[in-house]
Amino acid sequence: MRAIYPGSFSPPTLGHLDIIRRAAKLFDEVVVAVLSQPEKSYLFSLDERKDMLKRILSGIPNARVVADTGLLADVARREGADVLLRGIRDASDLPLEMQMAAANRQIGGVDTVFLVCSPEYSLLSSSIVRDCARHRAPINGMVPPEIVNDIYAACLRGVGL
Ligand code: ADP
Repeated sequence: MRAIYPGSFSPPTLGHLDIIRRAAKLFDEVVVAVLSQPEKSYLFSLDERKDMLKRILSGIPNARVVADTGLLADVARREGADVLLRGIRDASDLPLEMQMAAANRQIGGVDTVFLVCSPEYSLLSSSIVRDCARHRAPINGMVPPEIVNDIYAACLRGVGL
């Protein structure tokens, strides 16, 4: 079975990596889909986010990364995904996730599977990482070590594409 794990990943965190590692044991293949929504601006370009993910997933043979600006249901169909995968941090994630799951089922005919995040990452988000890095606070323990320098560089550079 092939799962597609969509998100902004701006930047990817240890919480995302934990979900991907666990999903890679449950599914034959995990396709990580880095998405950009046209109305949002991102600190990291789509290519930068894809590149960071590729590096941190290099040790997981059944995970691969795609980047797209289109509709998730279309990307899922193109990639031959059987299910969508999302991570749940706490109950406050649920209302929006349920809405998105219902919409994707309606328009794409595809179900969403949820993995509950590991407790050590439940308070971690990409926006917290960005805020810390902007103020040059330490981000070790929040993101994989191999992308720490990219994150500081982007935060000091300012808004990306
Ligand atoms: P989006 O902007 O689509 O919410 P994110 O990159 O923030 O994209 O998140 C992608 C997925 O990872 C979502 O399912 C989100 O709930 C999940 N996620 C975010 N942070 C964590 C975390 N710390 N632990 C586990 N899952 C997380």
